[in-house]
Amino acid sequence: MNLNFPQMKELVMKLHDERRLEACEYRSLLLCEDRSVIESLHEAARETAVRKFGRNIYIRGLVEITNICRNDCLYCGIRKSNGNIPRYLLAEDEVLGCCRNGYSLGFRTFVLQGGELSESSDGMIERLCRKISGEFPDCALTLSLGERSEDSYRRFREAGASRYLLRHETIDPGHYSMLHPERMSLENRLHCLHLLKKYGYQAGTGIMVGSPFQSVGNIVGDIIFIGEYQPEMIGLGPFIPHRDTVFAGYWKSPASILPGKTHEEEAMDLTLKLISIFRLMLPDSLIPATTALATLSSDGHEKGILAGANVIMPNLSPPAVRGSYSLYDSKASSGAEAAEGLDELKLQLDSIGYKMTADRGDFTAS
Ligand code: SF4
Repeated sequence: MNLNFPQMKELVMKLHDERRLEACEYRSLLLCEDRSVIESLHEAARETAVRKFGRNIYIRGLVEITNICRNDCLYCGIRKSNGNIPRYLLAEDEVLGCCRNGYSLGFRTFVLQGGELSESSDGMIERLCRKISGEFPDCALTLSLGERSEDSYRRFREAGASRYLLRHETIDPGHYSMLHPERMSLENRLHCLHLLKKYGYQAGTGIMVGSPFQSVGNIVGDIIFIGEYQPEMIGLGPFIPHRDTVFAGYWKSPASILPGKTHEEEAMDLTLKLISIFRLMLPDSLIPATTALATLSSDGHEKGILAGANVIMPNLSPPAVRGSYSLYDSKASSGAEAAEGLDELKLQLDSIGYKMTADRGDFTAS
């Protein structure tokens, strides 16, 4: 659909007013290269976020509890077949120590993230949930530990976890199979997302933006799926290659969705547009300006917030293991990405007129 400038601006207003567009209209917005239209999209999203949340950015303390994973996702630096990184699993006391440190710094949400451990880890995770929710009853506990059994999700929820992040990555089964080994299925990922809702988690899903083989049609499908699933949190990470994966040289190929741009520029452009689109579709949602965005660009946090994001997740993990949680190359884990760099983050936010809030930031529908 070829639209002229006024028609493109009308699309932005339609999304703002009606909270949804037709598939071909999402496609036009994603492919739009007119800076004035893109800026009006970001502006509408920014104003929506400010109306709902003020100029407050929620901070979540991220604890990367393990880089051990039973899966072999083709794009991931901690996939099980990568023998080039030392593996670690934090002891329960170490995780609690990270939370105590975070609490003293003002964090009121902890996110335990890690590779997908086997079911035998359920007891340990359940104990951690009980200890953290027992010691910090005023804090929210989020898990991001991959696909688990129904029983596991139920047990973790009963033990105090109230939020769960599980990005579906792509809703297209063919695309999914190009990024994952045969033993993994989109069907199971979607089943897990269903279970998260069933057990009353505030659920987060999302995608990698600019991933290998991704088409604009795939992204439109993801937008429609997320609109139907109605997650409380939406994670949108630009794809960044990892040197120990089959996609190590992917950025050397020409960008395919926005020809003429580099892959880095394409991933940044699309990620920011998607943040704005989801802010307008689901105004109450919690959308992080991700670490991957900050890795791609030194002002990635600011760009994400000015496009409508309202969450940042500084790293509370012990500094000694951060380098081993190597999901993609050059992953940022210091400065404003780190809990000890909160002053730097505060300055970043200050420079664009925002401030951190210690509030738990529970999802509330308006
Ligand atoms: S993306 Fe997640 S599940 Fe896949 S290999 Fe990496 S850590 Fe494991």
